[in-house]
Amino acid sequence: MNNFRLHFEQLKASGDLPSPSGVALSLLKLTRKPDVSLSEIAHAVQADPSLSGKLVKFANLLKAGSRSIASVSAALNLLGMNSARQLAISFSILASNRRNRCKNFDYAKFWSASLARAIIAQKLCEREKVAQPEECFVGALLADIGSLALASLYPEAYSEILSHELSPEALLESEKSAFETDHVELTAAMLEDWMLPPLFVSAACGSPQKGDFAEGSRGQQLADIWHFSDLLSRNFVSGEKSIVRNMPEFKEMAAEHELDPEDLAVFSNEAIESWRKWCEIFEVPSLKLPDFEDMMAALPDEQAGTEEHAFKLKVLVAGEDMTGLGTMRSEIMALGHKVDIATNPQDVLQCMLELNPQVILCVFEHDTGDLAASIRKLPAGKFVYLIVVADSEEGLVSAFSSGADAVMKKPFSERELAARMLAAQRFVQVGEELIEQSETLKNTAAELAITSRRAQRASLTDPLTGLPNRRYAIERLAQEWQNSPVISCLMVDIDRFKSVNDRHGHATGDEVIAHAAHVLQAASRSQDAVCRFGGEEFLVILPEASLSAAKSCAERIRKAVEASPFVKDNIRLELTVSIGVASRRPSIRRFEDMIKAADGALYEAKQKGRNIVQSL
Ligand code: GH3
Ligand code: MG
Ligand code: MG
Repeated sequence: MNNFRLHFEQLKASGDLPSPSGVALSLLKLTRKPDVSLSEIAHAVQADPSLSGKLVKFANLLKAGSRSIASVSAALNLLGMNSARQLAISFSILASNRRNRCKNFDYAKFWSASLARAIIAQKLCEREKVAQPEECFVGALLADIGSLALASLYPEAYSEILSHELSPEALLESEKSAFETDHVELTAAMLEDWMLPPLFVSAACGSPQKGDFAEGSRGQQLADIWHFSDLLSRNFVSGEKSIVRNMPEFKEMAAEHELDPEDLAVFSNEAIESWRKWCEIFEVPSLKLPDFEDMMAALPDEQAGTEEHAFKLKVLVAGEDMTGLGTMRSEIMALGHKVDIATNPQDVLQCMLELNPQVILCVFEHDTGDLAASIRKLPAGKFVYLIVVADSEEGLVSAFSSGADAVMKKPFSERELAARMLAAQRFVQVGEELIEQSETLKNTAAELAITSRRAQRASLTDPLTGLPNRRYAIERLAQEWQNSPVISCLMVDIDRFKSVNDRHGHATGDEVIAHAAHVLQAASRSQDAVCRFGGEEFLVILPEASLSAAKSCAERIRKAVEASPFVKDNIRLELTVSIGVASRRPSIRRFEDMIKAADGALYEAKQKGRNIVQSL
């Protein structure tokens, strides 16, 4: 056992780590049994009325619009075993970790943001079909659980660390040196311990910037979704001003997820509405936010008002001689600039943060090398145009070497000051143009990213039916195969389809295939993937479905096709399909063998006379 594993086991043993309790714990144990059935799970869930209620509510929220779900077993059927287990764990952790032991850890805000992140991630997963939406909900809900764990394990020490409001990197470093672990590492260990799929563990803890993912892989796609959901959700809980301020970044990230500004507004409004519903269910606070489109149209605070735009430049004049400063201020103001004054070096740094000047003119009596260097260290100081007044050659050299853009030797005239301001103006203007150009470049890059994502999606979609294609089917099955000890698939083939082409032509044949695809999809559960595998052949992937569940699903599909003839103009075609069913079992080692088995069963179904479900 490596050091961290050992440490983690010790933390678990301390009893202070957030953990599922009661029914959720028994669910965790139950689902580790390879042959557990859905009814056993339903039985266990029903022992906890509040958990039962929440699962049913979740299933209904997920299926908003279609028929309503009233029982635990219907909810479990819809959600599937893995998702139900993970939801139960989330609900139980959410219910029992709301105490305020760590003073500077805002438990309510943490859960409110986690719920927002979960909802946004789920909605993005629905759009991008990266993974099952309800699993995404849970994965994203728990994606920062390590922070909560640190607050529970070390309430005082962690509260002290949080009081410094550190940058993300500095926070990780402080955690590591105080606790021998950090919230990211703990998150990974806890999610693994609760048996969340590895894909969700890496999405929560990996970093696309550090090259943790292969370009274009599902891992990267999911991590991108997590990143975007995290950004949006943090802003939801920070409120309207923060959303307005960060709008350009949202738009840029939204574009990478193929959401243009109009889509982003619709998407976010829906997410905010669901978020508020969820917060109500869990009794955590949420904010009432204005319509997203209005927030898009609003100006951020620092740009609000027209006063500042009326000036050519924002100038800060700094020095200790008040009379001299007053004269310079009048002279510079006369050129049409806005001028503020600072009378000591600390004030200069403070004013930079508050006033964001474009030009600083330093007229201190003593050497200002240190001050110039401090200005350059601030993020806002990098682009400021810094003029230093010096009275000796030594002062001049020192000023330039500590970062000044221009030096004026004393004494200087009003004309020279005006000329220097002109140079400053040109410098600031060029800087702004550069920023504008880089924005344009970024937009172009975002557009390119959209195009390439569209192309990637197109390469996984069958244009005739809109269903995922064979390539997607194989990738998806390979991935589900890793996580699901219980999994089945159906090979569905339209009976005597050649005669449709022969009698009505190829174009009608195409329409019949699209019609059948639609019927198949409508008859399947949300977590099943219906894919067009070949001409008039479909592969349906049924994660978590046993052989008997798969057979009944196949039977439902067979009947649905039989009951849905293709009707157009004066053509009416009765259609039937034959279906081969196969499930994972010890003799089937690879997913490719399961497809072969389903194909073999389909062949038998055809032999037996068609319109039949057959398993091997
Ligand atoms: P059965 O499966 O019941 O044995 O008979 P079938 O007539 O359906 O079997 P077969 O596999 O021999 O024929 C399938 C036909 O589907 C052959 C091909 O011309 C046609 N087909 C394949 N892809 C398409 C397509 O995209 N559009 C149309 N219109 N026809 C297609
Ligand atoms: Mg065929
Ligand atoms: Mg056929």
